[in-house]
Parts: sequence; C-alpha cells; structure tokens
Amino acid sequence: MMKTQLLSMSLEELKAYMKQIGESAFRGKQVYEWLMRGADFKDMTNLSAALRAKLAENATANPVRIEEVRLSKLDETSKFLYLMEDGNMVEGVLMRYHHGDTLCLSTQVGCKMGCKFCASTLDGCVRSLTPGEMLGQVIAANNYAKSLDPDRRVHNIVLMGSGEPLDNYDNVMKFLRLVNAPEGLNISLRNISLSTCGLVPKMYDLAEENLPVTLSVSLHAPNDSIRRQTMPVANTYPMDKLLEACRNYIAKTGRRVIFEYALVADLNCEQKHADELAKKLRGMQCHVNLIPLNSVKERNLEAPSRQLAEDFQRRLEHNHISATIRREMGSDIDGACGQLRRKVLSEKNQ
Ligand code: SAH
Repeated sequence: MMKTQLLSMSLEELKAYMKQIGESAFRGKQVYEWLMRGADFKDMTNLSAALRAKLAENATANPVRIEEVRLSKLDETSKFLYLMEDGNMVEGVLMRYHHGDTLCLSTQVGCKMGCKFCASTLDGCVRSLTPGEMLGQVIAANNYAKSLDPDRRVHNIVLMGSGEPLDNYDNVMKFLRLVNAPEGLNISLRNISLSTCGLVPKMYDLAEENLPVTLSVSLHAPNDSIRRQTMPVANTYPMDKLLEACRNYIAKTGRRVIFEYALVADLNCEQKHADELAKKLRGMQCHVNLIPLNSVKERNLEAPSRQLAEDFQRRLEHNHISATIRREMGSDIDGACGQLRRKVLSEKNQ
C-alpha cells in the first residue's frame, strides 16, 4: 500500500487525516509543526510511541533529504542534490544575496520540453514532483541555511530548477499555497518566481489563480525561426501567441513579466536581434534578464563574449526595454541547470 505523504497536506487536511485514523485534530496541529521543521516521526517527542509507530507505518514525514552539498568558495552559493524516497534525485541551489537567501527549486525529475541548451532535459522527464516534495526542498534548505547561520533562511524562491512547472500544474499550485500558509513557512508569494518555457494555455490558467507570483518566461529568441532552433515548444506556440498570453497575465495581475534570454554565440545576440526583440516587447510592462549561456558538456552551444552581452543589453536599453545581465553564481560547483545531477548520475553508473 502506498503511504500517505503528510507534507503534501495543508494544516486542515492533516487535521482531517488525523481524525480519520482515530486521533484528535489537535494531534494534527502538533504533527504539522514538526513537519515544517523537517522532523521525522521518531523525533516527534510530544506524541505517544504508539502514535509515532502508527504514523510511520501508514505515512511519510519527510520525503526529501539533502544527499550532497557543494559550497562555492567564490560566492557562498550552495548546490544540493536532493534524494527522494523512490531513489530519484533533483538539484537545488541556494544563493545568498543582500536581501536574503534565494532557493532555486525543481518541479520535476528531468524535463520533457527538450530545449537544446538545457542539461535537465537530456534524458526526458522521469516524473513530476508532489507538492510535499517541493515543500520538502524548501524545508531541507531552510535547515541547512540555519546550520550555517541561525539568522539565515529561505526568503525567495525561483521555480527554475529541473522541470517545467506548468507541465506539473496542479501540484505546483498546491505547493504555492502550502509554502505561503501563515501557519507554515509563510513565504510571501511576491517573493516567488515561476519560470515557464511558454505553455500558453496554462499561462492563461495561471492568470486566473489570483496568486501574486512573478511570471518569468523563457524567450531566448527575438523571433520564431531562431526560437525553434533551440526550443521545441516554439513549434506548438508561436511567439505572438506567447506574448499575447503575457499581455493577458500583466492585465489580469497588474504585475510585470520577466523575460529570460539566454545569450548564445552566433545565434541570438546581434544588434538586429536586440532591435527585433525590443520592437516585439514595446509598451509591455516587462524586464529582460539576459543570461550568458552556461555551456553544457553535452551541448555544443556557447556564450558570447562579455562585450557582446553588454552591447546587447545597451541596445535594448536604447530601445527603452529595461534589461540586466544575470550575475553568474556558483560556477565552481556545477551551479547551473541540471549539471550536478548528471555528473553524479554518470559517476554512479561508472
Ligand atoms: N522549465 C522552466 C524552468 C526551468 S529552467 C523554463 O523553461 O523556464 C530555468 C531557466 O534556465 C530557463 O530560462 C531556461 O531556459 C534556462 N536555462 C536552461 N539551461 C540553460 C543554460 N545552459 N544556460 C543558461 N540558461 C539556461
């Protein structure tokens, strides 16, 4: 029998579950408090041994644990390899900024979107993560951050690890509500960014959820013909439909959209591309985040020179489109995009 994953439950659902197994709702509240701290049943010392044993038999407490950590010597970025109960692994990155720690979270084991520059998608999607497995990443990272410094904790979250969040829509929506719960981790939705490669129908659904998350859209090209060269999803949803969905999101939520644009040498970073992009984004409440490509061993795509990246940014700004170049963090620890999991998997397979 499949065990019940308690971390995927809200406080109310957990209370109902406890009643269902013949306990009081109050026990539900106690268990919930332990779960938010990443405790296992055996640690829940204010419950009877009999209840702890009953829970351990029927349910799981902590569905992810940190299997491996790499701490960058350059910028205090930490990279995690999380292990889940079925043996699958996903990556996470904790970045330290002045305004607090930002956690990069995975939503699926692998990814099926097939972007040509991305390491996470090389072996396809193994499975989607549950809400509890996403919340478990935050709790484990919180405990890790606190172990370095009691004042540290996860302050911001970006759904930019492996996986396409809108391809795991219901679980991601549930996770957002769980992580925001005032009685739980209480992380503000305004501090959370959801990044999508552009699943247009789901972007319309998201606009109706009334969740004040920041929407990031992986654009990576100024037109469909370039976009199709690296992003298969561009064959399904052309750019004008994608930008229409973005305009709808802005209109419905009043929030600006962030466009991610990975700069790839000899592909998308000429001045004329900046002009074409600016023309398409004109008048939109948006910001462009330029990311010099992290070259992936398995892919023969490269970043342009720093000079070219800066020229591209200046050209966008000249066209009245706000743009910044993303700072690179954790480059000494395989910080980027699915690289650590692949490395560890291939070492294990040797
Ligand atoms: N599936 C979602 C979120 C995960 S990836 C999405 O596509 O948005 C987070 C961001 O990293 C995306 O913008 C993605 O395109 C980008 N990315 C992936 N591989 C990269 C690489 N090698 N270099 C730079 N950015 C990369």
